[in-house]
Amino acid sequence: MLTFGTEMTQYNYYVYQCDYGHSWVRRRAAGTPEPAADVFCPHGHEAVTCSEEVPADRVWMLFEPAARVRSHSTDNTRIKNDGMFYLVLLDHEMNELRRSTKIYGWQTAIKLMYRFSNKTKADAIKWWDRKPL
Ligand SMILES: [Zn+2]
Repeated sequence: MLTFGTEMTQYNYYVYQCDYGHSWVRRRAAGTPEPAADVFCPHGHEAVTCSEEVPADRVWMLFEPAARVRSHSTDNTRIKNDGMFYLVLLDHEMNELRRSTKIYGWQTAIKLMYRFSNKTKADAIKWWDRKPL
């Protein structure tokens, strides 16, 4: 199980606009104070509007390096599985939904994970379980 920060923290997007037509997006935990720097566009104009947007129901995808060395070896130059990856699906709270049992090279990993790029959590799990990686 992966954990990043506090579980169940909802991170939202804050879409700002200044009077000069610039818009910019910041991401932060919902309910946390707005950092003063967030209110200014890259050109130094103060925002005149801010809308809060919640992340759509889509899974996160993680490419976990499978490279490893023997823990008690004196020769750490012998790396196994270098350039290979485990594939992991996460939800917005960084809870691990699925993890591959096999490892894949980069090109194959991207190709396999691409199919999850627009899937909801429920659909991604359904797709994964149909043909586990
Ligand atoms: Zn501006």
